[in-house]
Amino acid sequence: MTDPAQGTPAPSHGPIVIVGGGFAGLYTALALAEQRQPPPVLLIEPHDRFLFLPLLYELLSGELRRWEIAPRYDALLAGKGIAWLRDRVTHIDATAQTVSTEGGRRLGFRQLVLGTGGTTSSFGIAGVREHALGFRTLADVERLQQLIAELRSQQLPLQRLAIVGAGPSGVELACKLADLLEGAALIELIEQGGEALPQCRAFNREQALRALQSRDVRLRTGTRVQAVGASQLDLHGPAGSESLPVRAVVWTAGLAFQPPTITPAAVGEGRGRLCCEPSLRLRGFQHLFAAGDIAALDGEEGPLPATAQVAFQQASCLAANLLRAGAGEPLEPFRYRDLGEMVSLGVGEASLVGSGLTLAGAAAYQLRRLAYLTRLPGRTHQLRVAAGWLADWQP
Ligand SMILES: Cc1cc2nc3c(=O)[nH]c(=O)nc-3n(C[C@H](O)[C@H](O)[C@H](O)COP(=O)(O)OP(=O)(O)OC[C@H]3O[C@@H](n4cnc5c(N)ncnc54)[C@H](O)[C@@H]3O)c2cc1C
Repeated sequence: MTDPAQGTPAPSHGPIVIVGGGFAGLYTALALAEQRQPPPVLLIEPHDRFLFLPLLYELLSGELRRWEIAPRYDALLAGKGIAWLRDRVTHIDATAQTVSTEGGRRLGFRQLVLGTGGTTSSFGIAGVREHALGFRTLADVERLQQLIAELRSQQLPLQRLAIVGAGPSGVELACKLADLLEGAALIELIEQGGEALPQCRAFNREQALRALQSRDVRLRTGTRVQAVGASQLDLHGPAGSESLPVRAVVWTAGLAFQPPTITPAAVGEGRGRLCCEPSLRLRGFQHLFAAGDIAALDGEEGPLPATAQVAFQQASCLAANLLRAGAGEPLEPFRYRDLGEMVSLGVGEASLVGSGLTLAGAAAYQLRRLAYLTRLPGRTHQLRVAAGWLADWQP
């Protein structure tokens, strides 16, 4: 394929452009590359590494290595016939079938896939952007590792670390941090709703509450964050308002969506996700498709959740539909199969429900690792990681 920066191919002959190399985008590209006659594919993604977010906790704790959960795109795509442009898409012109990028390029496409995912939402609360740490990127992990080292070395009395949001990310992070801090700081988990993990399976919720309790994580439900300061958190809870002194705040609550602008405008639902037809075609567009967190789509039991499991399953359906659309054939609807739920609960522990299994503790931790091994991108990377684990294995 020619350098995508060199010109604007004619729309009908251009590549399938995939915007975003996360679970939806990368796995769609890989599924297209496996076809007998693969179409030309251009992946546009600004980062140099794919990030397997469900295993970010294990990277934080050092249970997994960076190259295992964050392989480089150039290694993943080598020999696959997929071109990768390290850039960010700023605008999509659906009529001219072109994308514009931050780097000043304008590229044509025959079909386009939006897989730009989401970012953490601050809900407009004062001080979140300035003072809170996130937990979504490799840089976030490095900052947290530094904080853990500081808290452990200083061992000051009453050091407090607050995590905002008791969804899966907040709960899993709280357990891992508690194990890593070994009592060097008190962990407060703040949740504005009435309970932790409201969407999770009852068994996993029960195990998670037990794991939080056994690690002395203080869970405050019904508590709303009003402002985040450099060293305090302003809260309003059942007992009224209070200002909590903190060494740091980690923000895991909420998702926001900022896809590139599209002309003509796409139909978005309330939070900014883009409305899709069951085939994953963007509603109202012929050549635009979406998958993963950015795609708003109903399943049998209501709106599909923003999870890697959904994005992963959508990728193969979308790849097939892109080919069908290219051939002028009718598209198939995406059907989500809920394969279960796994939560990481501290170093060497997890809880899972699925495939007829309900399991917690060290065995669940090993099963979760194995299940994710089979979900890592590309057979070559899976084999490299498996070989690494075998080499580390001590009977
Ligand atoms: C800490 C954490 C733990 C999680 N654990 C689980 C779990 O255990 N199980 C589960 O099912 N889900 C989990 N999730 C959710 C899951 O990771 C997401 O649902 C999944 O990553 C969505 O995939 P995606 O491809 O839509 O978006 P992402 O994986 O977020 O990828 C989006 C990609 O698009 C790129 N991008 C964004 N904008 C542009 C642009 N304008 N141009 C080009 N590229 C762009 C980004 O750089 C990124 O690489 C977790 C999420 C987090 C943060």
